[in-house]
Amino acid sequence: MELRSGTAFWPLKNGLLYTYPPLGQNERADVLVIGAGITGALVADALTEAGLDVVVLDRRDAGFGSTSASTALLQYEIDTNLVDLTRMIGQRDAERAYLLCRDAIDRLEALTRTLPDNCGFQRPGSLYYASRSRDSRLLQAEYAARTRAGLQVEFLSGPEVQERFGLRAPAALFSPAGAQLDPYRLTQHLLQRVQARGARVYDRTEVTELEATQNGYVAHTARAARVQARRVVVAAGYEAERFAGQRLARLKNTYALVTEPLPEAQKPWPTSCLIWETARPYLYARTTAEGRILIGGEDDDHHSPARRDRRLPAKQRRLERRLEKLLPGLKTEVAFAWAGTFGETPDGLAFIGPQPGNPCLLFALGYGGNGITYSVQAARLLTDHLLGRPAPDLRLFRLDR
Ligand SMILES: Cc1cc2nc3c(=O)[nH]c(=O)nc-3n(C[C@H](O)[C@H](O)[C@H](O)COP(=O)(O)OP(=O)(O)OC[C@H]3O[C@@H](n4cnc5c(N)ncnc54)[C@H](O)[C@@H]3O)c2cc1C
Repeated sequence: MELRSGTAFWPLKNGLLYTYPPLGQNERADVLVIGAGITGALVADALTEAGLDVVVLDRRDAGFGSTSASTALLQYEIDTNLVDLTRMIGQRDAERAYLLCRDAIDRLEALTRTLPDNCGFQRPGSLYYASRSRDSRLLQAEYAARTRAGLQVEFLSGPEVQERFGLRAPAALFSPAGAQLDPYRLTQHLLQRVQARGARVYDRTEVTELEATQNGYVAHTARAARVQARRVVVAAGYEAERFAGQRLARLKNTYALVTEPLPEAQKPWPTSCLIWETARPYLYARTTAEGRILIGGEDDDHHSPARRDRRLPAKQRRLERRLEKLLPGLKTEVAFAWAGTFGETPDGLAFIGPQPGNPCLLFALGYGGNGITYSVQAARLLTDHLLGRPAPDLRLFRLDR
């Protein structure tokens, strides 16, 4: 599957930070992690920190899957509003899912402090605006639900949104927890650290088959070599279904662009917070440390890499027009535009945990708009699970829910 079209921004900005060899000889490990994107890197980091021996394999260059296409807004607010999630899974579990995503942002901040640089981590907060006047009531209900859950959030009227953020919207919620980072850089720094702890990372090595054995699995690859492991964690992003043997997510095409840096000191909107809206599919925007605007959305309701390639120029123009409408009078120039595969689950929650009935095969699949915050929780929960420690939150994300 082609996961991306166009020119993804992060690998260009960073350059090829580090490279890894393909698998050239048979390997043996406690845990094989399939996928060296941000999820696989976070999982491998947590597992090696816990003292487990790990091998990571990726069929592409490490970090070159969806991770390099991600706009990397870090939000506790998942694509399903808390009010709606409560209706689907009950108040206790819905609130727990939101609180876990908030906790994931704190964990990421702490994690970036332990790396050679902060991987562009910034916490400007997140503004969720009403796309239409009638969505103001939705935001009021959402405000009440989030406040009840113990989340820090402000309800802003239209004039308050204009005054504080320079945007025209009927109403909005502001959440100070919202953050952003450079996902490719974080992935690479984590992979370097897991290597330093003794793990082996190989890319350009596709896992073609998992053969169950008495003690775990033998992973066969498209190269001559194999990996024998007691446990396998599938962090293969939107290509994971072949290992799950079941349909897990609804795949879609999604589009994004990044502008050239704005002149120094020109903030496109006060506080440079993350922005997104109540409409579905939603438009979203953030800035980068060097003063660019990243904007995305315009999702198709289907998944077709070929069609995505063809549609990219038109989608780019639509995103440009929407940016002009959001920030009238601001002069911007598009630097790169790209598109990617994106997966949604019916409840907006990730799939994390063992395959039902099979404790040796585990999944770390951060499907949904805040895939990255889910990946952080996947790393924590799967490590606890593999070490035999209680991981009650896995219940929320189980594959057979
Ligand atoms: C345009 C766009 C914008 C997004 N914006 C956001 C956002 O703002 N915030 C957010 O949280 N999330 C966002 N996401 C989602 C986010 O990018 C994903 O949740 C995240 O990148 C998933 O990381 P991953 O490591 O699970 O997947 P990937 O980065 O795709 O990594 C999986 C890896 O597995 C490898 N692999 C697959 N099959 C095999 C195999 N058989 N053998 C070996 N290796 C294999 C792949 O090559 C790949 O490198 C966005 C996604 C897109 C496309």
